[in-house]
Amino acid sequence: MGGSQAAVAAAFARERWLLPRRYDAARARALERFLREDLPRASFYAPHAGRALHELPVVDKRTVLADFAAFNRYGIGLEQALAVAEAAERSRDFTDTLPGGVTVGLSSGTTGTRGVFLVSEEESRLWAGILLGQMMAPASLRALTSRPLRVALFLRANSNLYETLDSRRVRFSWHDLTQPVEDHLPDLPGTDVLVAPASVLRRIAAAKPAGLRPIQVISVAETLEPDDEAVIRAAFGRPVEQIYQATEGLLAVSCPTGRLHLNEGHVHVEPQWIDHRRFHPVVTDFTRTTQLVVRHRLDDVLLAAPGPCPCGRPGRSIAAVLGRADDVLLLGDVPVYPDVLRHAVALAGELGDYRIEQHGDEWRVAVTGAQAGISRVGAEVTRLAERLRAAPPVVVPMAWPAEAPDQKRRRIRRVS
Ligand SMILES: [Zn+2]
Repeated sequence: MGGSQAAVAAAFARERWLLPRRYDAARARALERFLREDLPRASFYAPHAGRALHELPVVDKRTVLADFAAFNRYGIGLEQALAVAEAAERSRDFTDTLPGGVTVGLSSGTTGTRGVFLVSEEESRLWAGILLGQMMAPASLRALTSRPLRVALFLRANSNLYETLDSRRVRFSWHDLTQPVEDHLPDLPGTDVLVAPASVLRRIAAAKPAGLRPIQVISVAETLEPDDEAVIRAAFGRPVEQIYQATEGLLAVSCPTGRLHLNEGHVHVEPQWIDHRRFHPVVTDFTRTTQLVVRHRLDDVLLAAPGPCPCGRPGRSIAAVLGRADDVLLLGDVPVYPDVLRHAVALAGELGDYRIEQHGDEWRVAVTGAQAGISRVGAEVTRLAERLRAAPPVVVPMAWPAEAPDQKRRRIRRVS
């Protein structure tokens, strides 16, 4: 797409993605106060005191890891933070904190650098409040009045963050993803709210332990693909809700219409438009003051949803989290977005599960079903390339890639 065409697409997208003015004003005041009072406390931002948001540098995970101490108000270094976090991961005891009651979290990295984040006790309470406030469905709240609500969390790492959530009214059980999912199944009957990555929900749905009839099923940490949603929905008889969270904070939660509402009461998202609907979020969290998240550009590709949401909730919403930048494959310089590729793969018929990796001109495909599926994928990919007016890739079979049980599932991935 040419430069001017991209500019038009971006302007169009902005127009369709406007916020009601009154709603915007309160957020603008909170953001201004944050920039004035909290920003200069981290040494990276000291030279930028008094500047408007759009004048501040856009940073990413690498920038922050390279100069970690400069992005938090206590000057805690990366080695110190990692030492505490890794000791906790090894012992599976997550009660240790840094000076000032600061907790370290590690984000479940897929490839390359892991995210490291610091939060204060107050911030983790706030996070818990937002999460519960936004996610609790009326049925769960009704259940709460008569008995404690049982919430099962399947997460890669526990942390003080999740223990903050535990109370007499809400009982959390934490299920360590470094252990096989099957080991956790006997504990699940009686669970009211089931929270897990999409691939784990799908495995629980397939096993469907007797006595597991959750009121809410919530997908976290991985892209929830439409076919997974359909299988999980059918197994539990209810739609799958979503929480979109990153190291940079709680970014969005789904509503009954299936859209994801940005957490705009706490996070300001600037879209970096890729085309007329897809964008990378540039995130500023104006409620976190321990580790500053200011204009962090995420690798994720989001799909904007046009106009106000039919559910009536104000603010901007997205239709889907499509994946990460390296989930976007390339045919020469033509991007093939994961949602587009998934549609094409769906036309190839029954494959079982599948993986597609791009290595240069070669797209390597693995399927759990009959191997004939691979050539059908090849045919659909060739048709897709024709529609995109790009040269088709060389599609070859590959062995099923090794994946650790706690690794985020990614069906589509650009390796090189
Ligand atoms: Zn909505």
